Amino acid sequence: MPELPEVENTRRYLVEIGLPGKTIALATIGWANTVKHPSLEDFVLDLPGGTIQKVARRGKYLLAPLDTGQTWVLHLGMTGGLRIHPRTQPPPAMVRHTVDFTDGTQLRFIDPRKFGHLWLVDDPAQATGKMGPEPLSEDFNDAALALVLSNRTAPIKALLLEQHIIAGLGNLYADDALYRAGIHPERPASGLSPEEISRLRNSIVQALEHSLSQYDQSRRDHWPDPPFGLSPWLIPRSPDAPCVRCGSGTMEQVKVRARTTFYCPVCQPPTP
Ligand SMILES: [Zn+2]
Repeated sequence: MPELPEVENTRRYLVEIGLPGKTIALATIGWANTVKHPSLEDFVLDLPGGTIQKVARRGKYLLAPLDTGQTWVLHLGMTGGLRIHPRTQPPPAMVRHTVDFTDGTQLRFIDPRKFGHLWLVDDPAQATGKMGPEPLSEDFNDAALALVLSNRTAPIKALLLEQHIIAGLGNLYADDALYRAGIHPERPASGLSPEEISRLRNSIVQALEHSLSQYDQSRRDHWPDPPFGLSPWLIPRSPDAPCVRCGSGTMEQVKVRARTTFYCPVCQPPTP
């Protein structure tokens, strides 16, 4: 599933390929349930004519404010991807929706499992709901992380996945951050010491920045068709794989709130 680095990589791709400044000519929706707001009829009527001002990101959402004052919001769901090609270029497989621009190019929304979503809203919060701090912003300091975790007895891994606590993390980068920080995924959040919270904050930033640097390199190496699904995390994601951090442990797999979770029992002991 695309998490913050994958969505941010998509945002950077869209900016570099020139989406800002394009004017929408036509929206073709192949799966009606993808449009969350307004109605499908109003979406395909209202989107054309708008010129994209910029491409921003909030958590796992892409935000394209238009000169009409409305914002086009996109979420890639489980398996979604976006490409911009000349309209005459044969489309890749699994394109569910297209948006044509007046310059002859076309945005292609690839979505094999059809879990992606689209909105056209006055206020992006209508689409995103309440979101926690952005982990790559200056607002995300030790005090901010301590505040959102205080009095929470749930497993730290489960809380890292909640978008209203921290924006943008999903299963893979939550595991990677806890692994880098040496914190067991099932530890109650309220039991983390200030020093552990600081280490976790640093590890979240490091995991995301490491991934983004790999995506940046990949876009340069493979432009204009970079791969969108790298595996740029440090944590070995297979049971019994040797731990690359301590060299002595082997990875173990558990379920935390039904999500497959890997950890090293030597680096990440169940009690501090
Ligand atoms: Zn280890």
